[in-house]
Amino acid sequence: MKIVIVGCGAAGGTAAQFARKTSRDAEIVLYDGEGYGQYAKCALPFVLAGMRWEDIVEFPPAWFERQRITYKNETVTSIDVKRNTVTGKEEEHYDVLIIATGAMPACPFEAEDVFFLRRLDDALALREAMERAQSVIVIGAGLVGLEAAEALMHEGMEVTVLEYMPHILPAMFDRDMAEYAMKQIDMEVVFNCKVEKVAHNTVYAGEKYRADMVMVATGNVPHVPDGGVMSVDARCHAHDNVYAAGDCTKIKDFFGRDITVGLGTIAARQGRVAGINAAGETMHCCHLYSQRPQSCAELRWHRWGSSAMK
Ligand SMILES: Cc1cc2nc3c(=O)[nH]c(=O)nc-3n(C[C@H](O)[C@H](O)[C@H](O)COP(=O)(O)OP(=O)(O)OC[C@H]3O[C@@H](n4cnc5c(N)ncnc54)[C@H](O)[C@@H]3O)c2cc1C
Repeated sequence: MKIVIVGCGAAGGTAAQFARKTSRDAEIVLYDGEGYGQYAKCALPFVLAGMRWEDIVEFPPAWFERQRITYKNETVTSIDVKRNTVTGKEEEHYDVLIIATGAMPACPFEAEDVFFLRRLDDALALREAMERAQSVIVIGAGLVGLEAAEALMHEGMEVTVLEYMPHILPAMFDRDMAEYAMKQIDMEVVFNCKVEKVAHNTVYAGEKYRADMVMVATGNVPHVPDGGVMSVDARCHAHDNVYAAGDCTKIKDFFGRDITVGLGTIAARQGRVAGINAAGETMHCCHLYSQRPQSCAELRWHRWGSSAMK
């Protein structure tokens, strides 16, 4: 059996590891458009704050090769599910495919020469620019924006955060909790600020704001080579012989609503489930979804997986 995995983030890298643990014989091919192996995106703000980038790489390419996982530093440009092929530098056939291509930053306004923080290359580009800059505007007071702002302040930069909503962490907190959190941080945040455009390090938002550099942290959109978002069930199964995991997926929450999650913890868990199922065993993300195990034996299965993983 040949398993092809596209993407080597928390979901794809973990899927490759668990596919290998589940099947010692499967041929496994892992595509990574970035070339660093599996690293912790959650630690990117630490790279801004001076940590060596090598220290956030958890499993470098050579680690996968040692597990007999063929690591390809290539971007997959198309997937043909009818012919069971993916195309990077050349066409590759698969028996089972796992799509784990993550997400890309969303920017809801016109912007030029701005920075994002999604990939390691983004963090390295920011670090390089920081050497020539003293002030920065961060657009978005969500988790990524605030973590980046804190790291930039740690490095001695003058930071202004612009936020469209009336409080910080709008996707997580109501106003009262956000105001409590705001008291814990010493940061300049401009609220109710609707950015219309960024050009030449100037942010147009009714008023004009200017700094030496501008970073946009206004959320992410799922990223799949052929567009859209992958709907998956509790087995991370998308359709036929295709599984998907991580930020590129849409799942059902406890109430049966479609959601995209965008958390590394969930992506790693989905990667594990996708890898095990793709390699021929059965596992569910039962605690993430409304689906409940039927029996104690099934609960143990859900919780601990199969004996092949131990
Ligand atoms: C700054 C920051 C801080 C964060 N902090 C936290 C946190 O504290 N806690 C938490 O739970 N989550 C956090 N997250 C979110 C977490 O990092 C993501 O949810 C997680 O990385 C998603 O994993 P993934 O594998 O689905 O996607 P990704 O990690 O984005 O990995 C997808 C990979 O696929 C590759 N790829 C995409 N398309 C192709 C292609 N066509 N061919 C080959 N390769 C391709 C990409 O290059 C990428 O390496 C943070 C994210 C950021 C950016």
